[in-house]
Amino acid sequence: MANGSNRRVIMAKEVGFCFGVKRAINLTRQALAEREDVFILGDLVHNKRVTDELEGKGLRKIEDYDNEKKGTMVIRAHGLPEEKIREIKSRGIDVVDATCPIVLRAQEAAQSLEKRGCQVVIVGDRNHAEIKGILGALESPALVVDSVEELREAKESRKLMRKVGVIFQTTHALELCNAIVNEMLMMCKEIQIINTICRPVQNRQDDAIELASKVQLMIVVGSRTSANTMELAALCLNYNVNTIHVQSAEELSFSAFENFDLIGIASGLSTPEDLVEAVKVKVLTMQADPELAIA
Ligand code: SF4
Repeated sequence: MANGSNRRVIMAKEVGFCFGVKRAINLTRQALAEREDVFILGDLVHNKRVTDELEGKGLRKIEDYDNEKKGTMVIRAHGLPEEKIREIKSRGIDVVDATCPIVLRAQEAAQSLEKRGCQVVIVGDRNHAEIKGILGALESPALVVDSVEELREAKESRKLMRKVGVIFQTTHALELCNAIVNEMLMMCKEIQIINTICRPVQNRQDDAIELASKVQLMIVVGSRTSANTMELAALCLNYNVNTIHVQSAEELSFSAFENFDLIGIASGLSTPEDLVEAVKVKVLTMQADPELAIA
């Protein structure tokens, strides 16, 4: 049984924002410093503290841009369909494009597969902004699947062609993508694949799997609205049943970790480094639940 004094924490090799998120935050801060009316469709990152800071500096969050006729609109790291960006500019709105270069490369990969005469198949969540951006970059409709079951359904309803070009949502886990491609091998005659999984995401997933496999408890820190954090937590759970997901140190109760001596901590790509650090400090310093101590 752990008593707190033996408790050790192993941090994932990389924590804090990925370069795409850092770039988007910096571009937005710069726009806010230099321009009058700056707005954004939805949240820039899946983190309330960051969005509060930017909104405090004047960033206006909008639900749609139908009523906007001037000012500057920031395009998020996930991107936006090309035609929408054209339409926004045609209204006289300035655009600060913070689309991550890796997301842009995924759009270009889909376009090149389409030009090669393939049916484009995107492994990803059709409701995610990045996938909407990729769909908007294509001339013809693509097939979006997010599970082996969805692929089988597409095959049964004759929506899957014989010659396909496959790309992946940049934040998707390689394991899921592998399973879908393996199934596809039995269904299609020709498959061209461009690996669009983001390298920083893949590195963090590989590292988290290794860490989850050797610790007694794995803690994943990040927002529940962040796809890559949710995916990271699900992945860790496959390798360690004692995996918990918290959004911040405040959410972490003493009882969740008191019985463990060796604890691993990993985080999503939109989780600020100091939030992860706060979780580490709590795990290493808290000796008993203060509420229980008072009782
Ligand atoms: S996770 Fe990868 S693709 Fe997404 S913003 Fe970060 S660097 Fe870009």
